[in-house]
Amino acid sequence: MAGDLAPADPHRPLTSFARRAGSGQPSYATRVDTASRFVIDDFEPAYSSLARGGELADRARRAVELLRACRLCPRRCGARRLDGELGVCQTGRMAVVGSAFAHHGEEDCLRGSRGSGTIFFAQCNLHCAFCQNADLSHARAGEGLSPEALAAVMLEIERRGCHNVNFVTPSHVVPQILEAVAIAAGQGLSLPLVHNSSGYDTVETLRLLDGVVDVYMPDFKFWRSETARRLSNAPDYPETARAAVAEMHRQVGVLKLGRDGLARRGVLARHLVMPGQVEESSAILEWLARELSPDTYVNVMAQYHPAHRVGAPDSDGRRRFMDIDRTPRSSEIAEAHAAACRAGLWRFDEKRHHLVFI
Ligand code: SF4
Repeated sequence: MAGDLAPADPHRPLTSFARRAGSGQPSYATRVDTASRFVIDDFEPAYSSLARGGELADRARRAVELLRACRLCPRRCGARRLDGELGVCQTGRMAVVGSAFAHHGEEDCLRGSRGSGTIFFAQCNLHCAFCQNADLSHARAGEGLSPEALAAVMLEIERRGCHNVNFVTPSHVVPQILEAVAIAAGQGLSLPLVHNSSGYDTVETLRLLDGVVDVYMPDFKFWRSETARRLSNAPDYPETARAAVAEMHRQVGVLKLGRDGLARRGVLARHLVMPGQVEESSAILEWLARELSPDTYVNVMAQYHPAHRVGAPDSDGRRRFMDIDRTPRSSEIAEAHAAACRAGLWRFDEKRHHLVFI
């Protein structure tokens, strides 16, 4: 897999990407310099001390035991994954990696100038009808990696100069990640780790990551149980995600950056605005401000597009999920953003803010 990593390409220098020429807006770099309560000067990744004391390897062993009758995620299938049985996530003993590369499309504070070292795990525990990454998440693509091989991918990401290791869709492979981090940390890994999930995580599993993950990046998707049932077959999603995001915040707090503008530790909350669901967007964003903090760093994402099963015919030939078979209107994006502002949120992802209003 390490060979799949794209070579570090010459991107715009980190200090240049936030200055909006002629806009009169403060630059991203300026905000980092002045808002010192959100700055970390001396950074050591969260997992380093756990690795030094040997606790990380112990924790990985305990986590692997959970695969025996899997209760790792809120599906709680009970699949005997150590014996090769597959549950809803269709993943057995080994993590399957679809691709790994230096991602230049993530938030500015993750991609920086050399990219976010993204590891896309195949399969998923949520199964959204509108999955925006269906080629990776729902195809049995990629190869099962041993912990040593996954650790080698992480070390190669660091060698190529990426700013972090970004685990995408990690909820069903937390034990495998812990095993690999324990190995990679012993071989010198020193990048921040990003847990980039749908928010459909259990508090119990997240506690295995306490002191390991530096940046949590949940995409809080649905507020209403009925919407979550219809679009992801997960009616328990709203309360599960609320508990999960609260636990993430308990562990790492609001997002803090280095003086280079790169994320070091904290929660970076994403929310994908869906067509016709602005009320749910507003409720989610208000909840983030109220229950976490108005200082929560938020990416209100505008890029939803019909994908996967949206618009595909059912057995009677009728097109499915017609209500979300369009992109969100600019008025819907603006309304979600206005609700976030009214709730007191103010730390919006700069790049996304740019897209919304220009
Ligand atoms: S991680 Fe997979 S097997 Fe385990 S409970 Fe979740 S969906 Fe089921």
